[in-house]
Amino acid sequence: MKVFVTGAAGFIGSHLVEHLLSSGHQVTGLDDLSTGQLTNLRSVADHPDFRLVQGSILDAGLVSELTAGCQQVYHLAAAVGSFVIRDRTLESLRTNIHGTENVVEAATSAGAVLLSASTSEIYGKNGKLGLTEDDDRIIGSPLKSRWSYAEAKAIDESLIDAYARERGLKAVIIRFFNTVGPRQTGRYGMVIPRFTRQALAGEPLTVYGTGEQVRCFCHVLDVIPALTKLIATPAAYGKAVNLGNNEPISINDLAKLIIVATHSSSAISYTPYLDAYGPGYEDMQRRMPDCTLAKTLCGFVPQRTLDDIIEAVIEGEQNERGAAAP
Ligand code: UDP
Repeated sequence: MKVFVTGAAGFIGSHLVEHLLSSGHQVTGLDDLSTGQLTNLRSVADHPDFRLVQGSILDAGLVSELTAGCQQVYHLAAAVGSFVIRDRTLESLRTNIHGTENVVEAATSAGAVLLSASTSEIYGKNGKLGLTEDDDRIIGSPLKSRWSYAEAKAIDESLIDAYARERGLKAVIIRFFNTVGPRQTGRYGMVIPRFTRQALAGEPLTVYGTGEQVRCFCHVLDVIPALTKLIATPAAYGKAVNLGNNEPISINDLAKLIIVATHSSSAISYTPYLDAYGPGYEDMQRRMPDCTLAKTLCGFVPQRTLDDIIEAVIEGEQNERGAAAP
């Protein structure tokens, strides 16, 4: 099959490209390399069925040209990471709203099936244990920059839903919960790569807030096969589907676990949210998915534990350090 992947050089995108190529598909990737990196695609750079185009989803002509003739479009390109949203709010809004509109329009015109990445941020401060796809969103003021990401992704979901209803687009929306693994960088805020890097460097692990906030972390390699199954499952079209793990851990316990796993002598330091993220930031105290829908649609059950994830991130980080060494 001919497949188009936006955000191909990103953390999730690069793992997806590898998986698609190993399944025999012809893949065209698009990435503006804003947060994605060419090194993420090292293993497939010379693959005869892969082509990477450097460009933006804001370039409607380019998106339409690359989508033409493809049967499937995976739309993973987005401005992501709490530091990116904080520092480049306007650019992020434009990419996440207008860029997605371009991809949705192109997929519709090409008659391609679309899988579009959304986020658990959609649920905002709804701390229900086991969030299901129909649960209400509890979002702070749109003038608080944190929520601008959830706002943009919610508009994307509504846009895709309207294209599906009015223009016949076949699409599945994926709400990723905290997804982690090798190649995710901590540069843009994500906690596990940050803590791992800090622990390996013997620096304090920077817990934001009290550290009592809870998250569930899922290994990227658990979610990738679910993506290729869901895009090929007509019962998933027109739906939003949660993907994540449902094993909760507090950020304090996560920091302790990473210190032990890295055999580090690092301490834990506490930073108020205001100092970490600046004004206009609210955190959610708890986020845990219910993935029954994904299980029903495609048999999704994460296999890897948090220990597996941390081990994989440590190994990835050590490999990067090895590659960067003179
Ligand atoms: N966090 C932290 N220290 C860091 C980075 C993040 O304590 O160096 C916290 C962050 O405030 C949040 C949690 O870890 O409560 C998860 O953050 P991440 O950005 O990975 O994902 P989020 O769940 O916020 O989307």
